[in-house]
Amino acid sequence: MSDRLPGFSTLAVHAGAQPDPTTGARATPIYQTTSFVFNDADHAASLFGLQAFGNIYTRIGNPTNAVLEERVAALEGGTAALAVASGHAAQVVVLQQLLQPGDEFIAARKLYGGSINQFTHAFKSFGWNVVWADPDDISSFERAVTPRTKAIFIESTATPAGSITDIEAISTVARKAGVPLIVDNTLASPYLIRPIDHGADIVVHSLTKFLGGHGNSLGGIIVDAGTFDWSTGGKYPMLSEPRPEYHGIRLQETFGNFAFAIACRVLGLRDLGPALSPFNAFMILTGIETLPLRMQRHCDNAKAVAEYLAGHPAVASVSYAGLPSDKYNQLARKYAPKGAGAVFTFSLKGGYDAGVSLVSKLQLFSPLANVGDTRSLVIHPASTTHSQLDDAAKVKSGAGPDVVRLSVGIEDKEDLIADLEQALGA
Ligand SMILES: *Cc1c(COP(=O)(O)O)cnc(C)c1O
Repeated sequence: MSDRLPGFSTLAVHAGAQPDPTTGARATPIYQTTSFVFNDADHAASLFGLQAFGNIYTRIGNPTNAVLEERVAALEGGTAALAVASGHAAQVVVLQQLLQPGDEFIAARKLYGGSINQFTHAFKSFGWNVVWADPDDISSFERAVTPRTKAIFIESTATPAGSITDIEAISTVARKAGVPLIVDNTLASPYLIRPIDHGADIVVHSLTKFLGGHGNSLGGIIVDAGTFDWSTGGKYPMLSEPRPEYHGIRLQETFGNFAFAIACRVLGLRDLGPALSPFNAFMILTGIETLPLRMQRHCDNAKAVAEYLAGHPAVASVSYAGLPSDKYNQLARKYAPKGAGAVFTFSLKGGYDAGVSLVSKLQLFSPLANVGDTRSLVIHPASTTHSQLDDAAKVKSGAGPDVVRLSVGIEDKEDLIADLEQALGA
């Protein structure tokens, strides 16, 4: 063995996995079982009391899911991870460890439409209050901090336009406020951006998108950077105070730099219940093996398509951070030098009607509400994902009526451009 640290592509294939000790199976088996046999009564008691690590019941942990957790933690540079049923489940589980009723968290206004809904409505019913800030104006985060602020939530590359967020600047605000920075890294994937390297304390993903990568399995994951001190000021009692359900242990004291991942598992996942199916974990693990190859192709295709659209007479503007003229190009060069991702928007001179018409004429691009599939996808956000917002909020979040969003796949770029050509021209 050399003492070289494995590179990203090697980790994408190997991290967390070994040949199965019983059968020699090289691919990670799907441990399709609800429960695991205890060695004896003492073993069972120590597992339940968190004195020993091991498998109990698949709602709390599963060996297939554990490989996925170790792999994503390695790719993101975190200390530990927890896989859950979806990206939205990851967001609920994370915030449940941090917020008490009446608390606040600050979120960037440019977010996945479903997250805007979840934060505005569902979380409100838990007594968790979202305060919106503008990711293009760092001082708006500073102004939003109050004594009840418990976290800051941003996307590394923001939906819907793929704009790049200045993670380091916002992490400085979070440090000053004494709260963790949570980064949704779904659109970039750790191949393009590793938020922990830029000051994130917690990373969340919808595994449903580029990590799984094939549009076939929902999943979510939480990565603990191990950087945050949960004991300060009694702000995070779930982590710092004795837990009655576990014989009074304090999670931070017992688990140190992976206490947050443990809290998410033994307080969040165990009690809220959004467990990931081991079958989905297997599908997503298989997807991750080719993440570096796919992601580079996604980016190269997206750049070619963006350049084509920027030169088309029916197109009013293209928002793609990979174009030198784009307002986020500086940030893209700093945070995502390998490519600016595959999800971006453009606007049509013909407005709303032209957007709806284009979507209906495209043949290779599928009209649907997803991103990060091998296949190219298209959507008109104003009439779909962002339709719940009023007109001003639509424009503010980058989903005005004339805007069309693409998620560029890994097909031949010439075929994608030909499809756009026929749909724009006809
Ligand atoms: C899809 C998505 C989510 C939600 O994930 P699900 O797996 O659909 O629950 C959250 N954030 C971003 C950026 C997404 O694209």
